[in-house]
Amino acid sequence: MRQLGLLFFSIFIVSMTNAQHTIPDSINNHVTTALSYYPELDSTNIEFKFKKNIKKSTMQARPTFGSFFRSRKHRRYVILISEKFKISNEEFRTRDIPKDIFIGWIGHELGHIMDYQDRDKLNLIWFGIKYVLSDNHIVEAERAADSYAVNHGMEDFILKTKDFILNHAEITQSYKDRIQKYYLSPEEIMHLVEQRETEEK
Ligand SMILES: [Zn+2]
Repeated sequence: MRQLGLLFFSIFIVSMTNAQHTIPDSINNHVTTALSYYPELDSTNIEFKFKKNIKKSTMQARPTFGSFFRSRKHRRYVILISEKFKISNEEFRTRDIPKDIFIGWIGHELGHIMDYQDRDKLNLIWFGIKYVLSDNHIVEAERAADSYAVNHGMEDFILKTKDFILNHAEITQSYKDRIQKYYLSPEEIMHLVEQRETEEK
């Protein structure tokens, strides 16, 4: 009886700690691993959702529309995950990509959410406008998301994700160019890691 009570108590605790995150069962393990690198987001409301198709990207993090009328603490975020992605006209299921690469991808999206959480309402609106209008701003936003992930100790995952895209012969050159243009390079990532390590000493 006591064991049963303990079991219910632990289920209660587990559901309490995950109450802010809505995650589809099929990717629950991977997403939870990525989230464990971001304890600051434990009480942030985030919904992970599969979508048939996302323009130009595989995943996308954004605040919900209603969040613009709420205080920072009560904002809600959605991370959309495209059900499929294409490698030179062949379609793959996103949930089937290797574990570490999937985790790295989610880690990058969580980096965007950290970046959004740093901004007040007006700044967030301005950010959205600039993202649509300015290519330089996209570079800035994507590099910020990568930097958050690396500064949270996710460099191995982020490097694997990049390696997967850049060294996958079947991925189109235009997609690789996009990645090189908008994201941190492996050298820059290593530099951030060195910086973090000297700061920790
Ligand atoms: Zn991004």
